[in-house]
Amino acid sequence: CGIVGYIGDKEALPILIDGLKRLEYRGYDSAGVAILGDDLHVVKTAGRIKDLEEKLKGTKLIGHLGIAHTRWATHGIPNDINAHPHYSESKNIVVIHNGIIENYLELKKMLMKEGKTFRTETDTEVIAYLIEEFYEGDLLKAVQKTVSMLEGSYALAILSKEEKDHFVAVRKDSPLIGGIGKGENFVASDIPAVLPYTKDVIIFENGDIVDVFKNKMVIYDKNLNVIERPIHKIDWDI
Ligand code: GLU
Repeated sequence: CGIVGYIGDKEALPILIDGLKRLEYRGYDSAGVAILGDDLHVVKTAGRIKDLEEKLKGTKLIGHLGIAHTRWATHGIPNDINAHPHYSESKNIVVIHNGIIENYLELKKMLMKEGKTFRTETDTEVIAYLIEEFYEGDLLKAVQKTVSMLEGSYALAILSKEEKDHFVAVRKDSPLIGGIGKGENFVASDIPAVLPYTKDVIIFENGDIVDVFKNKMVIYDKNLNVIERPIHKIDWDI
Protein backbone atom coordinates (compact mmCIF):
# COMPACT_ATOMS: atom_id res chain seq x y z
CA CYS A 1 0.00 0.00 0.00
CA GLY A 2 1.24 3.49 -0.72
CA ILE A 3 0.59 7.20 -0.80
CA VAL A 4 1.97 9.89 -3.07
CA GLY A 5 1.08 13.59 -3.07
CA TYR A 6 2.36 16.33 -5.38
CA ILE A 7 2.06 20.09 -5.77
CA GLY A 8 4.19 22.19 -8.15
CA ASP A 9 4.40 23.52 -11.69
CA LYS A 10 4.42 20.18 -13.49
CA GLU A 11 1.46 18.05 -14.45
CA ALA A 12 0.69 16.03 -11.32
CA LEU A 13 -0.69 12.85 -12.91
CA PRO A 14 2.46 11.31 -14.48
CA ILE A 15 4.49 12.06 -11.33
CA LEU A 16 1.87 10.41 -9.14
CA ILE A 17 1.57 7.30 -11.31
CA ASP A 18 5.36 6.98 -11.46
CA GLY A 19 5.48 7.36 -7.67
CA LEU A 20 2.86 4.65 -7.15
CA LYS A 21 4.91 2.28 -9.33
CA ARG A 22 7.95 2.91 -7.17
CA LEU A 23 5.89 1.87 -4.12
CA GLU A 24 4.46 -1.29 -5.73
CA TYR A 25 6.86 -3.47 -3.72
CA ARG A 26 4.73 -2.65 -0.66
CA GLY A 27 1.84 -4.68 -2.11
CA TYR A 28 -1.72 -3.58 -3.01
CA ASP A 29 -5.06 -4.65 -4.44
CA SER A 30 -6.48 -1.34 -5.80
CA ALA A 31 -5.22 2.02 -7.03
CA GLY A 32 -6.60 5.51 -7.44
CA VAL A 33 -5.80 9.15 -8.02
CA ALA A 34 -7.36 12.59 -7.45
CA ILE A 35 -6.22 15.59 -9.49
CA LEU A 36 -7.27 19.13 -8.65
CA GLY A 37 -7.05 21.59 -11.55
CA ASP A 38 -9.88 23.76 -12.83
CA ASP A 39 -12.02 20.77 -11.85
CA LEU A 40 -11.58 17.93 -9.42
CA HIS A 41 -11.16 14.46 -10.94
CA VAL A 42 -11.14 11.17 -9.06
CA VAL A 43 -10.35 7.90 -10.87
CA LYS A 44 -9.93 4.61 -9.00
CA THR A 45 -10.13 0.90 -9.58
CA ALA A 46 -9.63 -2.49 -8.04
CA GLY A 47 -6.60 -4.19 -9.56
CA ARG A 48 -3.16 -3.10 -10.67
CA ILE A 49 -1.70 0.29 -11.52
CA LYS A 50 -1.90 -0.71 -15.19
CA ASP A 51 -5.68 -1.13 -14.72
CA LEU A 52 -5.77 2.43 -13.38
CA GLU A 53 -3.75 3.60 -16.40
CA GLU A 54 -6.21 1.80 -18.65
CA LYS A 55 -9.12 3.60 -16.96
CA LEU A 56 -7.29 6.92 -17.35
CA LYS A 57 -6.86 6.46 -21.11
CA GLY A 58 -8.85 9.04 -23.05
CA THR A 59 -9.48 11.17 -19.94
CA LYS A 60 -7.84 14.54 -19.36
CA LEU A 61 -6.73 14.92 -15.77
CA ILE A 62 -5.01 18.29 -15.92
CA GLY A 63 -3.74 19.86 -12.72
CA HIS A 64 -0.67 20.68 -10.68
CA LEU A 65 -1.95 19.25 -7.41
CA GLY A 66 -2.87 15.65 -6.78
CA ILE A 67 -2.87 12.66 -4.46
CA ALA A 68 -2.58 8.98 -5.36
CA HIS A 69 -3.02 5.71 -3.50
CA THR A 70 -2.49 2.00 -3.62
CA ARG A 71 -4.74 0.10 -1.24
CA TRP A 72 -4.19 -3.02 0.79
CA ALA A 73 -7.77 -3.65 1.90
CA THR A 74 -8.38 -4.06 5.62
CA HIS A 75 -12.06 -3.00 5.85
CA GLY A 76 -14.27 -3.72 2.85
CA ILE A 77 -13.45 -6.02 -0.06
CA PRO A 78 -11.15 -4.82 -2.85
CA ASN A 79 -13.54 -3.30 -5.41
CA ASP A 80 -13.82 -0.03 -7.32
CA ILE A 81 -16.02 1.71 -4.74
CA ASN A 82 -13.84 0.79 -1.77
CA ALA A 83 -10.68 1.91 -3.61
CA HIS A 84 -9.26 5.27 -2.51
CA PRO A 85 -9.52 8.29 -2.86
CA HIS A 86 -12.67 8.69 -0.78
CA TYR A 87 -14.64 11.92 -0.69
CA SER A 88 -17.31 13.66 1.33
CA GLU A 89 -20.88 13.94 0.03
CA SER A 90 -20.29 17.42 -1.41
CA LYS A 91 -16.98 16.19 -2.88
CA ASN A 92 -15.26 19.14 -1.25
CA ILE A 93 -12.95 16.88 0.75
CA VAL A 94 -10.87 14.10 -0.82
CA VAL A 95 -8.85 11.66 1.31
CA ILE A 96 -6.37 8.82 0.85
CA HIS A 97 -5.35 6.65 3.78
CA ASN A 98 -2.94 3.88 4.65
CA GLY A 99 -3.58 2.21 7.98
CA ILE A 100 -6.60 1.30 10.10
CA ILE A 101 -9.07 3.56 11.95
CA GLU A 102 -9.87 1.47 15.03
CA ASN A 103 -12.88 3.52 16.15
CA TYR A 104 -14.46 3.99 12.71
CA LEU A 105 -17.71 2.16 13.58
CA GLU A 106 -18.42 4.48 16.46
CA LEU A 107 -17.69 7.52 14.25
CA LYS A 108 -19.73 6.09 11.40
CA LYS A 109 -22.76 5.56 13.68
CA MET A 110 -22.47 9.13 14.93
CA LEU A 111 -22.28 10.52 11.38
CA MET A 112 -25.18 8.34 10.21
CA LYS A 113 -27.31 9.75 13.04
CA GLU A 114 -26.56 13.17 11.58
CA GLY A 115 -27.96 11.99 8.26
CA LYS A 116 -24.79 11.10 6.37
CA THR A 117 -25.08 8.37 3.77
CA PHE A 118 -22.05 6.10 3.40
CA ARG A 119 -21.09 4.71 0.02
CA THR A 120 -18.26 2.37 0.99
CA GLU A 121 -17.41 -0.35 3.51
CA THR A 122 -14.07 1.21 4.39
CA ASP A 123 -12.89 2.62 7.70
CA THR A 124 -11.46 5.56 5.70
CA GLU A 125 -14.71 7.14 4.53
CA VAL A 126 -15.48 8.53 8.02
CA ILE A 127 -12.39 10.72 7.73
CA ALA A 128 -13.73 12.57 4.67
CA TYR A 129 -17.10 13.11 6.35
CA LEU A 130 -15.58 14.32 9.62
CA ILE A 131 -13.31 16.81 7.86
CA GLU A 132 -16.30 18.13 5.97
CA GLU A 133 -18.25 18.48 9.25
CA PHE A 134 -15.44 20.56 10.74
CA TYR A 135 -14.68 22.51 7.56
CA GLU A 136 -15.16 26.25 7.89
CA GLY A 137 -12.94 27.46 5.06
CA ASP A 138 -9.69 26.19 6.63
CA LEU A 139 -8.65 22.68 5.61
CA LEU A 140 -5.71 22.52 8.02
CA LYS A 141 -7.92 23.27 11.05
CA ALA A 142 -10.60 20.82 9.95
CA VAL A 143 -7.96 18.09 9.57
CA GLN A 144 -6.48 18.84 12.99
CA LYS A 145 -9.90 18.55 14.67
CA THR A 146 -10.64 15.32 12.81
CA VAL A 147 -7.32 13.71 13.62
CA SER A 148 -7.88 14.38 17.34
CA MET A 149 -10.89 12.03 17.11
CA LEU A 150 -9.15 9.19 15.28
CA GLU A 151 -7.76 6.07 16.97
CA GLY A 152 -5.51 3.69 15.09
CA SER A 153 -2.86 4.09 12.44
CA TYR A 154 -2.86 6.46 9.52
CA ALA A 155 -0.85 8.13 6.84
CA LEU A 156 -3.23 10.56 5.16
CA ALA A 157 -3.17 12.99 2.28
CA ILE A 158 -6.16 15.30 1.97
CA LEU A 159 -7.19 18.00 -0.46
CA SER A 160 -10.11 20.40 -0.64
CA LYS A 161 -11.74 21.55 -3.86
CA GLU A 162 -12.02 24.98 -2.23
CA GLU A 163 -8.26 25.30 -1.60
CA LYS A 164 -6.21 24.86 -4.74
CA ASP A 165 -2.83 26.04 -3.47
CA HIS A 166 -2.08 23.29 -0.96
CA PHE A 167 -2.89 19.88 0.47
CA VAL A 168 -2.51 18.44 3.98
CA ALA A 169 -0.81 15.22 5.10
CA VAL A 170 -0.77 13.48 8.48
CA ARG A 171 1.22 10.66 9.98
CA LYS A 172 0.60 8.28 12.88
CA ASP A 173 2.01 4.72 12.97
CA SER A 174 2.04 4.40 9.17
CA PRO A 175 5.07 5.59 7.20
CA LEU A 176 5.16 9.02 5.54
CA ILE A 177 8.02 11.13 4.20
CA GLY A 178 8.25 14.52 2.53
CA GLY A 179 10.30 15.51 -0.51
CA ILE A 180 11.41 19.13 -0.84
CA GLY A 181 11.84 20.19 -4.47
CA LYS A 182 12.41 23.52 -6.20
CA GLY A 183 8.98 25.05 -6.64
CA GLU A 184 7.43 21.66 -5.98
CA ASN A 185 6.86 19.45 -2.97
CA PHE A 186 5.96 15.82 -2.38
CA VAL A 187 4.78 13.42 0.26
CA ALA A 188 5.05 9.63 -0.05
CA SER A 189 5.05 6.41 1.93
CA ASP A 190 8.70 5.84 1.12
CA ILE A 191 11.74 7.63 -0.26
CA PRO A 192 12.01 5.91 -3.71
CA ALA A 193 8.77 7.60 -4.82
CA VAL A 194 10.35 11.07 -4.68
CA LEU A 195 14.01 10.36 -5.56
CA PRO A 196 13.73 11.10 -9.30
CA TYR A 197 12.69 14.65 -8.36
CA THR A 198 14.59 15.54 -5.18
CA LYS A 199 17.19 14.22 -2.76
CA ASP A 200 16.01 16.42 0.13
CA VAL A 201 13.78 14.32 2.34
CA ILE A 202 11.99 14.80 5.67
CA ILE A 203 10.99 11.76 7.72
CA PHE A 204 7.74 12.70 9.45
CA GLU A 205 7.08 11.59 12.98
CA ASN A 206 3.94 10.40 14.73
CA GLY A 207 1.46 13.22 15.18
CA ASP A 208 2.94 15.43 12.47
CA ILE A 209 0.40 17.43 10.44
CA VAL A 210 1.96 18.81 7.28
CA ASP A 211 0.67 21.69 5.16
CA VAL A 212 2.14 21.27 1.68
CA PHE A 213 2.38 24.24 -0.71
CA LYS A 214 4.44 24.41 -3.89
CA ASN A 215 7.05 26.68 -2.29
CA LYS A 216 6.93 25.53 1.32
CA MET A 217 6.05 22.68 3.60
CA VAL A 218 4.97 23.66 7.13
CA ILE A 219 4.97 20.97 9.82
CA TYR A 220 2.71 21.25 12.88
CA ASP A 221 2.19 19.21 16.02
CA LYS A 222 -1.27 17.99 17.01
CA ASN A 223 -2.12 21.41 18.52
CA LEU A 224 -1.00 23.23 15.35
CA ASN A 225 2.21 24.62 16.82
CA VAL A 226 4.85 24.88 14.09
CA ILE A 227 7.67 22.37 14.53
CA GLU A 228 10.96 21.73 12.72
CA ARG A 229 12.13 18.43 11.29
CA PRO A 230 15.61 17.87 9.83
CA ILE A 231 16.08 17.63 6.06
CA HIS A 232 18.13 14.57 5.07
CA LYS A 233 20.25 14.54 1.90
CA ILE A 234 19.70 11.15 0.31
CA ASP A 235 22.91 10.07 -1.42
CA TRP A 236 21.74 6.88 -3.08
CA ASP A 237 20.25 6.57 -6.52
CA ILE A 238 17.46 4.37 -7.76
N1 GLU B 1 -7.98 0.62 6.00
C1 GLU B 1 -8.07 1.23 4.72
C2 GLU B 1 -8.89 0.40 3.77
O1 GLU B 1 -9.13 -0.75 4.00
C3 GLU B 1 -6.68 1.53 4.13
C4 GLU B 1 -5.91 0.30 3.76
C5 GLU B 1 -4.48 0.60 3.30
O2 GLU B 1 -3.61 0.82 4.15
O3 GLU B 1 -4.23 0.62 2.07
O4 GLU B 1 -9.33 0.89 2.78
